[in-house]
Amino acid sequence: HVSVVLFTSDLRLTDHPPLRAALDAADAVVPLFVRDRAVEATGFAAPNRNAFLDDCLADLDSGLRERGGRLVVRSGDLVAEVCRVVTEADADEVHMSAGHTRFATVREERLRSALEAAGRRLFVHDAVTVAVPPGTVTPASSDHFAVFTPYYRQWAQVPLRPAFGTPRRVSVPEEVGGEKVSAHGGSSEVSPALPPGGESAARGRVTAYWRRGLGAYEDTRDDLAADATSRFSPHLHFGTLSPVELVRRARRHGGPGAEAFVRQLAWRDFHRQVLAARPDAARADYRTKHDRWRTERTAAEDIEAWRTGRTGYPLIDAAMRQLRHEGWMHNRARLLTASFLAKTLYVDWRIGAAHFLHWLVDGDVANNQLNWQWMAGTGTDTRPNRVLNPVTQAKKYDPEGTYVRRWVPELAGVDAPLVHEPWKLPGLDRAALDYPDPVIELSDGLDRFRHARGKQP
Ligand code: FAD
Repeated sequence: HVSVVLFTSDLRLTDHPPLRAALDAADAVVPLFVRDRAVEATGFAAPNRNAFLDDCLADLDSGLRERGGRLVVRSGDLVAEVCRVVTEADADEVHMSAGHTRFATVREERLRSALEAAGRRLFVHDAVTVAVPPGTVTPASSDHFAVFTPYYRQWAQVPLRPAFGTPRRVSVPEEVGGEKVSAHGGSSEVSPALPPGGESAARGRVTAYWRRGLGAYEDTRDDLAADATSRFSPHLHFGTLSPVELVRRARRHGGPGAEAFVRQLAWRDFHRQVLAARPDAARADYRTKHDRWRTERTAAEDIEAWRTGRTGYPLIDAAMRQLRHEGWMHNRARLLTASFLAKTLYVDWRIGAAHFLHWLVDGDVANNQLNWQWMAGTGTDTRPNRVLNPVTQAKKYDPEGTYVRRWVPELAGVDAPLVHEPWKLPGLDRAALDYPDPVIELSDGLDRFRHARGKQP
């Protein structure tokens, strides 16, 4: 008796319900990953995430080898490849985790029909890539929550399934072959400081963060220079960490830091339940439609300055450069750069979201598009017309200017608070800096915003 475990966004061995179920059901399993051509065709497979994915697959393969097995990697149409492997292994069933995007659910249905036509069964497991699956809690009058706070109140009451350990042995039938897997070798398109992928790296991070970061999370999470958040996001995106396990462990740890951290994990589930119910929110304005955006055609220079970190607003530029260098950006910086593009420059949020998706190693349709919508005031923010001021916010969240000087070497010799407003430096000091003037006056940005939103300045 053989079963296939199809890995998707769950590239780990610990707390993996589909693997557990497959091992319980069969004498041998085929751990399978398919590089789906259709994902590449969507443009979603960006260089940073491809590199991180290679690391994840290599680590998964070595974890399986330590247990007597191996990972089978194929490329092609996912449904066709799974069916081929099922035939080669003469497997009876396939186990996989539930996906929550339209792409994932459509693919899952195609797979189910193809397997059923061949007399095989597909088992889809919930709560593998989220702690609380979409649809588990709903308000009385809708199929999903549009506001976070009431969602969170109910989310926090949901009993979580137990977390599973790592299997001891995995035996894989010899006749099923696959491609060679190896960690990424780097390329000029990949961010130079991309973090390493894979479950081993992820678990190392958890151990370190539990020891040194979690307790203070509530106090330090907005401190840009301290860089004291968990950086679990790429691991959650690729599923090298289990959200159920993390929530359980954080609750056991207890205290305000752990509580604030669990709340952030609930945001992740919140966005997933929005996207599961409204797949169009990946592109279309979710709650409030706005159509006076500036675009590539009308704001090309501003957009380019934003993308390359040359807006003349030091904190915005620092953040945009961190994004390219690491494939990651601090949450406070994501909020500020998104507000700056969508509200100060009044550029269509989709342009910013696409740039983020290209670079972010944690780039995720639900988290990215819905956080962008939140910030652009088209999504779930209950105060959609607030505009973040990049100078006051910089003084608050980077009071010494350390974060700015880390990423903007042109300003290395400038102290706070002027490092956040270099245009206020005395004439000669200003002239000596090779740093651009602001692309826009903040008051002009605010006027344009109010005009576009039909509000009196
Ligand atoms: P921590 O602060 O340590 O939080 C722990 C985990 O909670 C994160 O790893 C993440 O999974 C989750 N989380 C935290 N904040 C949020 C949030 N606002 N929404 C949803 N989940 C959250 N996150 C992504 O994973 N992928 C994205 O593509 C993405 N795009 C974003 C775009 C914008 C404009 C904004 C404002 C936020 C975006 N975020 C995205 C959310 C958040 O910024 C990142 O999850 C966070 O910065 C990752 O760092 P961390 O792991 O150290 O987070």
